[in-house]
Amino acid sequence: MAGILYLVPTPIGNLGDLSQRIIDTLNEVDFIAAEDTRISLKILNHLGLKKPMVSYYRHNTESSGPQILARLLGGESCALVTDAGTPAISDPGEELVAQCAEAGVQVCAIPGPCALITALASSGLPTGRFTFEGFLAMNKKNRAAHLKELQGERRTMIFYEAPHKLCATLEDMRKAFGGERRISLCRELSKLHEEIFRTTLDGAVERYAQQPPKGEFVLVLEGAPEEEEEELTLEEGICRVLELREKGLSMKDAARQIAAETGMSKNELYAGATQKGKG
Ligand code: SAM
Repeated sequence: MAGILYLVPTPIGNLGDLSQRIIDTLNEVDFIAAEDTRISLKILNHLGLKKPMVSYYRHNTESSGPQILARLLGGESCALVTDAGTPAISDPGEELVAQCAEAGVQVCAIPGPCALITALASSGLPTGRFTFEGFLAMNKKNRAAHLKELQGERRTMIFYEAPHKLCATLEDMRKAFGGERRISLCRELSKLHEEIFRTTLDGAVERYAQQPPKGEFVLVLEGAPEEEEEELTLEEGICRVLELREKGLSMKDAARQIAAETGMSKNELYAGATQKGKG
């Protein structure tokens, strides 16, 4: 019978976040696949555990993935760990999980530290609906296209960003979303100097122009405001039907379109516009 691939989260800054289930899983698996074996070794040493390790990182997934899969199919169990946080979230692992799913190997994700959820929860922005956008592309054109695509996004948006790119990213965001848009910059989560800076894009640009950003950041950006519903009177609705009629639409189609746009009754619009059109 095939073994199980465990996705084992590791602390994003605080060793106290190693849960009993994380420790038990690391202790019980046959081997560990680590993004950086030196970093994972420090955690194993901290826990007093010894375990065989193989490396699985962004640039060896093609060679290492099939070897790990073969061992799983052979009945061994494996814990996948990355440098910090939950594997497969902006970290190596997504491909291995897909390969396991295709090969019928069970995947068991252990809940635990994840920067995006920690940031969202403390952001003070709406959490009911959100979208995770990961890292923006390095390439200027692709970044601009990504941000443009998000201009109408109503849900709260979450981004990962490296400190040396933060200022440029905040400027690009201000261009795309305007300086008034609220943003929470969640820095050094779960660490000694954790900080949640709740401000606007103008405020964020201004602060980091004066003080170079240090540490790890998650950016939580407010979604676009709801467009205000236009409150039209029936008379104004009828005028809009007649304007469309003048542009060549049939009275019936014009009434249907304005009814769909305003929520008014199609029949009332049609009757009113026909009456007015005659007069
Ligand atoms: N898989 C990880 C997770 O579950 O969050 C994310 C890995 S991704 C390669 C690294 C990014 O996560 C960093 O660039 C930063 O944006 C964010 N991050 C990780 N740890 C953080 C922390 N303690 N505080 C703020 N952001 C953090």
